[in-house]
Amino acid sequence: MAKVPVKTCPICGKPAVEKYRPFCSARCADVDLNRWFTGSYVIPARDDEPVNDTSIPGADEDDNI
Ligand SMILES: [Zn+2]
Repeated sequence: MAKVPVKTCPICGKPAVEKYRPFCSARCADVDLNRWFTGSYVIPARDDEPVNDTSIPGADEDDNI
């Protein structure tokens, strides 16, 4: 087991720098931030909204014939 815990950047896997930890650079920190916004923030919000796919204008008239 390692005596000194060396954390690695979750983005690229390089050793993390104290200044940007847990990332290795400001760029990787920015990448993670963008992932958070686009992945964990936007998608659940859209998934929560009700979808009205059954009401398609025009489809009902075709079925009436
Ligand atoms: Zn990195």
